[in-house]
Amino acid sequence: MRYIEPHGHMVSRTTDDYVAMVTAGCEAVCEPAFWAGFDRSSANGFYDYFCQLTEHEPKRAAKFNLPHYTWLCINPKESEDVGLAEEVLSIIPEFIDRPNVLGIGEIGLNKNSRNEIKVLEKHVDLAGSRDQLILVHTPHLEDKRKGTRLIMDVLKNDSRISPERCIIDHVEEHTIKMVLDEGFWAGMTLYPESKCSSARAIDMLEIYGSEKIWMNSACDWGISVPLAVPHTMMEMRRRGHEKDWIDKVSFQNPISFMKQSPKFQAPA
Ligand SMILES: [Zn+2]
Repeated sequence: MRYIEPHGHMVSRTTDDYVAMVTAGCEAVCEPAFWAGFDRSSANGFYDYFCQLTEHEPKRAAKFNLPHYTWLCINPKESEDVGLAEEVLSIIPEFIDRPNVLGIGEIGLNKNSRNEIKVLEKHVDLAGSRDQLILVHTPHLEDKRKGTRLIMDVLKNDSRISPERCIIDHVEEHTIKMVLDEGFWAGMTLYPESKCSSARAIDMLEIYGSEKIWMNSACDWGISVPLAVPHTMMEMRRRGHEKDWIDKVSFQNPISFMKQSPKFQAPA
């Protein structure tokens, strides 16, 4: 088996997790910037985090022969403070041309507030002006559907942004169709407790097909399973799916999306 982990918060993981992922067939990992589990006290905290994502973590991954890519932003949870968000947005251009940066992410909404939307628009403007890919986080609260709609409207309002260069992550049964219908990519996040289980993800693939969809584990500091993607691949085999179909969803699709950035080197 081979796969790509397109959304893994590796700064939260141990070296044992790296060994397990590579042993299970992981050939590249991509790490969006996200909430640390606590609010950072200043833009300096983000500066250090961006250094970690673009300098230290790629070196740590390289010790396990795993190419590491990243996405930069201030996450929606901390974007309620527009002043802080503007400061963080002003330091991103310093990092954006670094070799492992694929784009802007994971941006989006958490509580669908006015300030979150304002900061989302600023991130989309930065991505549009620098021709960057976009990775979107959708809210986990009961208003995921409304948040997904608002985010897609912001993306569509900017004529420089093409839907096929944006992935809307954490889709569930009630949001996947609207995302795909409007030409965006859809990400399914496999979590043991919330978000989406392996069985639900495979059901969605069986219903909506395997085009423009990827799966990820998120594997952050919370209860999560870094091997959720290969576990789901095993479940696909158990259901009788063909190896080529499993390979497309788990390996080829993430490559197809990410190679839209010239920095992404597709594994051979
Ligand atoms: Zn995430």
